Amino acid sequence: MKSVLTYSAVNCYRNCPRKYKLRYIDLLRRPDSPEALAFGDVIHVCLKLWYTLPADAHRLLAVLDLIDARFPNRSGDPAQKAAWQLARAIMIGYAARYAEEEFEVLHVEKEFDCEIRNPDTGRASQTFTIAGKVDGIVRAGGELYLLEHKTASSLSGDYLDKLWCDTQIALYTFYLRQLGFPIVGVVYNVLLKARLQQRAGETDAEYAARRTALAAKNKSGKSTAQRQMPESDEEFAARLADWYARPEAFHRERIYLSEDRLAMLQEEVWEITQQYLDANRRGKWLMNTSNCFSYQRPCEYLPYCQSGFNPNVRDNLFVVAPPHEELAGAAAANPDTEF
Ligand code: SF4
Repeated sequence: MKSVLTYSAVNCYRNCPRKYKLRYIDLLRRPDSPEALAFGDVIHVCLKLWYTLPADAHRLLAVLDLIDARFPNRSGDPAQKAAWQLARAIMIGYAARYAEEEFEVLHVEKEFDCEIRNPDTGRASQTFTIAGKVDGIVRAGGELYLLEHKTASSLSGDYLDKLWCDTQIALYTFYLRQLGFPIVGVVYNVLLKARLQQRAGETDAEYAARRTALAAKNKSGKSTAQRQMPESDEEFAARLADWYARPEAFHRERIYLSEDRLAMLQEEVWEITQQYLDANRRGKWLMNTSNCFSYQRPCEYLPYCQSGFNPNVRDNLFVVAPPHEELAGAAAANPDTEF
């Protein structure tokens, strides 16, 4: 049986071979891995349901039920409540904006598993296949596109420029083409996260201080300021609904992928598999210490590397977890990652 590579695994090896070994061979993860329970994951699950169900009056209700189920402690947990309110507002706004779609949805959350081939000879790797999952495949104007959902805090020019550098999507396009899907590009479906917060209102002390300050500025020495009361759930929902009725709350960006770029990526994947086989054969896993603080966050394996791979640190901080959690199928728990 061949071992499975995903984009995450390829990228991990490229960034730090040692990290690859710890994650995909030793199968170590921190139990508090930040990848779990991200807000974006909830929206992805909602969109999956949205595009799976028939487009009738029940579709949005089913999505809202799903959101309710995802935040069971919302009445007692302020963070869950805020995320629940935001997720509902996003999906209600999305349903209104895209009641009529500009594309036909052919596949939702399409998983694939494909041979990795030597670009010079066309020979399939004896060791690996590559697997992945795309949010969707759609048809627009007679052409096929990947559909990729994104949640974002803002939509700057930088953000849109970065979509052009999305190696994962380009790679998946290449391999889906191998499997017979003539994909020409990507439709990025961007949903913005409003930064609104439910107003808490003033405490007695805050109101008194504000009133005194305003009175001091008045010639009369008095103030008619009213105490600011907490915003009700209904008022906040209405404010969020207004925000999501704005055109900029949702954005679609269509990007075409060139043949040259896809061919380059194929070569890159092949090269990484060759380097990887060499590292495994020699038992040498380089530590790329310039990657230890990428994205201004410490790598999850930093304490273990710093300890010189002390087994006590490993046992105290890490658990053993399946290698490809982003995949639902058999590849997700492929135990044959070692090669
Ligand atoms: S801490 Fe640094 S050297 Fe160690 S695995 Fe992470 S990136 Fe690699």
